[in-house]
Amino acid sequence: MARPGAYSFLRRPAILRGSVGLIVVILLGLATLPVVERYFLDRAGVQGEATLRIAVEGLDATLARFEPLPKLLAERPSLVSLLKDPTNQGILPFVNEQLRLTALSLGVSDVYLMDVGGTTISASSYRKERSFVGRNFNFRPYFVQAVEGGLGQYFAMGTTSGERGYFFAAPVIDNTRIIGVVAIKFDVRSFEEAWSGGASDIVVTDLSDIIFMSNREEWHFRTLIPLRGEVFNLIAETRQYPLDRLIPLDVKRSSIGGSVELISIDGEDFVLSSQTLPDVGWRVMHLTPTGPARAQALFVLSLAVLLMLLTALTATVIMQRRNRTRERIEEQTRANEVLEQRVAKRTSDLNAANAQLQLEVTERAATEERLRSTQKELIQAGKLAALGQMSAALSHEINQPLTAVKSYADNAATFLDRNRVSDARENVTRISKMADRMAALSGHLRNFARRPQDTVRPVDLRLVLDDAIELMGTRLRAANAKVNYTPPTDPIWVNGGRLRLQQVFVNLLSNAIDAMDRIDAPQIDIELETVSDKRLRVIVSDRGGGISDEIIGQLFDPFFTTKEPGHGLGLGLSISFNIIEDFGGRLSAAPRKDGGAQFIVELERANVAEDGTGLAAE
Ligand code: ADP
Repeated sequence: MARPGAYSFLRRPAILRGSVGLIVVILLGLATLPVVERYFLDRAGVQGEATLRIAVEGLDATLARFEPLPKLLAERPSLVSLLKDPTNQGILPFVNEQLRLTALSLGVSDVYLMDVGGTTISASSYRKERSFVGRNFNFRPYFVQAVEGGLGQYFAMGTTSGERGYFFAAPVIDNTRIIGVVAIKFDVRSFEEAWSGGASDIVVTDLSDIIFMSNREEWHFRTLIPLRGEVFNLIAETRQYPLDRLIPLDVKRSSIGGSVELISIDGEDFVLSSQTLPDVGWRVMHLTPTGPARAQALFVLSLAVLLMLLTALTATVIMQRRNRTRERIEEQTRANEVLEQRVAKRTSDLNAANAQLQLEVTERAATEERLRSTQKELIQAGKLAALGQMSAALSHEINQPLTAVKSYADNAATFLDRNRVSDARENVTRISKMADRMAALSGHLRNFARRPQDTVRPVDLRLVLDDAIELMGTRLRAANAKVNYTPPTDPIWVNGGRLRLQQVFVNLLSNAIDAMDRIDAPQIDIELETVSDKRLRVIVSDRGGGISDEIIGQLFDPFFTTKEPGHGLGLGLSISFNIIEDFGGRLSAAPRKDGGAQFIVELERANVAEDGTGLAAE
């Protein structure tokens, strides 16, 4: 895992990249804004076109509906009659009422009849306070057109009512003579009411670019361009519009490319769609405020930018996660490889060590084998040496009884000659005992000389000790040495070989006698001690010179001896040590507390049935 410091340092380029990305995306958004704006303005224009078409169709249809009406009205005979006799009170009320009903049924604001001088003689508004009756309209172009035989139509603000309206007029003809003009006026407010309520505005201008219809009342009679003088004069002449309201609006037109045309009126921006009504020379303009389209463009673009940022952020997070995971896996793989290498090295080291160990084990086994065979040979050699010693001892031992036997025998013969039979029997008995003793000695000697079998079997330690003491009897006596030993009453079974064990104790006793050769009353203690259920020890101690610290480590080495040349081979303890080891025991030496030395023979107890099965037969 990276340290926090290192981590933030590593991440700094990522933050820089992120910031640059953010700026790029925002700049891109700003650069794209006009295009998106144009798209939405274009769409607003297209929608405006549709609304405009409906408005134009409505206007067109209304104009087409009203256009032929004056001509039809002019054919009414009552009108001709009234025009011929304008003061005829028999007809006038009738015509007035007729015109009122006609206006009602047609849905127009006024229907009126003028004489050729332009004075209204009958009107639908005859009952109203501001009635047309008596008013003269000869200044109005529609009157002029109609009185000249044509069909007049005209838009103007009513001089009587003050209301804007569209006028249609037709001549009333008596035979071939024009005797008057009948006109209808319809109110345009109903259109404006239909146009208002939406977000967009509709404006209708005449040929002089004067707004005469719009759902925005404040724009009525305002001009899109400043009026020329003659136009102004003509309007004044025909009293078409109130002159004081003909003020130009602050209008600027622009284009943002494509079919989109923009118009700014008094600081308000609109998308402009317009269409001309060729018959009347009007221009119908549909104005959609640009604000919503621009806001929409900004919103959509902001959304797109946000989405892009979000996508970039998500992608960055995913990429960083992926990178981190990859790094972690790589790190793990590296660590694994290092570990594997280490394991492989250790394994090879171990293998080498194993091989070395194996070699050493083999060598050791071979050495051990060599040692064992050497030991066996040494044991044999030791035994032979002991045999040599014993032979000397035996010859001395046997000579004495032999001399005694001879003298007993001689005496026995003398006793028999003198007829002292009981004395002679006593001598013979003594001779027999001597013979037994010598037979025992020769038996020991024979057993000792025989190479023992290598088997380990239960041996009664009591017998071993008895034999050893007996074998050493002559030397003990010669040295005047006493053996302090109380044989146990029950057999003590240990694992071993009777003769080999006997050889060990003979050796220990022999050494003890040697160690005490300058002592007047030498004593040897033999004690038995329990170590555990499975083991026991025999301690052979003397009161001799003891064992110094310098030699205690070498006692059991082969050929280590402190004795005079010709007196010791230095093999006894070494052979004994190995014999005891063979039996699973231990031979050790220690100084005795009150002076002298003690040798401890530790042995394994043997499992033997009560009846003594398994007795050593070596
Ligand atoms: P050897 O008796 O032929 O010298 P051993 O192996 O039996 O060979 O004894 C080795 C040596 O151990 C002896 O020379 C002697 O110095 C020492 N040693 C053995 N037993 C005793 C003992 N009881 N007291 C003192 N020294 C002893």
